[in-house]
Amino acid sequence: MKPKEDSELLLLLDEETREVLWRNLGEIIENYTTGIRDMRIGPILDPAPIRAALELVNFDRAMKPCEALEYAVKIFMEYQVHTAHPRFFGQFDPAPATMGIIAETLVAAFNPQLSVWSQSPGPVELESLLVSVFGEKFGYKRAAIDGTFTYGGAEANHTALLTALTYKFPRFRETGLRAIDADPVLYVSSEAHHSVLKAASSCGLGKEAVREIEVDQKFRMDVRALSDQIARDKKDGFIPFLVVGTVGTTSAGAVDPLLQLAEVAGREGLWLHADAAWGGACALVPEMQGLIAGIERADSITFDPHKWLSVSRGAGLYLTRHKNILTQTFDVAAAYMPRIKPSTVEVIDQFRHSMAWSRRFTGLKVFLTLAVAGWEGYARVIRAHTAMGDYLRQQLERSRWEVLNDAALAVVCFVDKTHPDGSTEDYLDAIRDEVLATNRAWISITRLAKTMPVLRACIVNYRTSRRDVDELLGALNAAREKQSNKMP
Ligand SMILES: *Cc1c(COP(=O)(O)O)cnc(C)c1O
Repeated sequence: MKPKEDSELLLLLDEETREVLWRNLGEIIENYTTGIRDMRIGPILDPAPIRAALELVNFDRAMKPCEALEYAVKIFMEYQVHTAHPRFFGQFDPAPATMGIIAETLVAAFNPQLSVWSQSPGPVELESLLVSVFGEKFGYKRAAIDGTFTYGGAEANHTALLTALTYKFPRFRETGLRAIDADPVLYVSSEAHHSVLKAASSCGLGKEAVREIEVDQKFRMDVRALSDQIARDKKDGFIPFLVVGTVGTTSAGAVDPLLQLAEVAGREGLWLHADAAWGGACALVPEMQGLIAGIERADSITFDPHKWLSVSRGAGLYLTRHKNILTQTFDVAAAYMPRIKPSTVEVIDQFRHSMAWSRRFTGLKVFLTLAVAGWEGYARVIRAHTAMGDYLRQQLERSRWEVLNDAALAVVCFVDKTHPDGSTEDYLDAIRDEVLATNRAWISITRLAKTMPVLRACIVNYRTSRRDVDELLGALNAAREKQSNKMP
């Protein structure tokens, strides 16, 4: 065997060490997978021991590879919320599918560069295929579909704002907002995701350009109020250019009335964006497609496989039925980027087609998980989560918790009607803290319509069973008991 170069040995490590590392890594992941049910769901939130543990590492002295691996695993095990735990009922953070974990490992090892087609034609074509098949699931016509993988929903929403600006104001790319005579404004419901506000401020529009439209009793955008606001804005000299319909609000799982929004958008010449980061998964279940009817009329769609499709972060999608809009929005010429010859072959160079430049292979985890589970498999998983959400709703009501959202999706917002303070933030906070302290389940708190505090539990985890829902109920009822014993 030829002697290894020092730099190779330092970074690649020797064969024997690698063999041990791969084996240990496999064991660690498998043990985590089989043991997660018995773990503490959330860490103790105290920075002192974490900082102390980090200070043990001395970068002036080499650590042994296996020791470094153990060290990292300890950080994960002790100092994170284990969102893959079957009784994590928090945000839309799924347990990752095994094929997705395999994919992430492969991507790290092969490290393809997806910014230009000619560097990674296989991975780029694979992602294009996924863009097409997901676009079709949302009802877009194959020939018109375009899109790009993003880190997540926030980047996809930001992309939507940029494409909508480019579409409505063709000079926007060259001269920016100065090219526009009056101030452009856009519309979201008051329950929409805050990433839209962030996108508006980073596009240079400013948060004030975002008109938050009030919601109806079911927390959906009020279309009358939208039309009135548009009329007012036009009268005041603003230029409406975009309406964002939320398909599954973060707090309550509400779906804005997309068909009506499409009508308003058509009449007023607005781009319609559907933010279906989480709720878009309904498109994969035949009997749930009606819940998101009209999404096919959206000019663009945000969909996050890392929310309800059980793949690791980050995996978002921006989809559109305007074939050329991404290129119109992002095209640049860079002489140093390798090109395919002849240049007449029609391929996509992602650096000219999205916000990113260097680009990792995000699509593989979606591809491998979908290839192994199949559309039908995903439909069964999402159906099961939805049924579990219904079960949770029933059990809560049986224990006299009051459910305040009637979403068809697996998110439940509730308060305590057995206690005089059962709808106050202090009381609900105390219940949440007590549930977390017992480690029986992990839930969160939010506000509906910005004013009503509620406890919130959602299900996006393939491990969650009825038994886990029952355990959550037990924890909630015990926490309530403890509160009522405190009453004067
Ligand atoms: C999660 C979410 C986002 C943000 O997506 P990230 O993937 O966290 O960037 C945007 N909109 C909605 C409706 C969401 O649920």
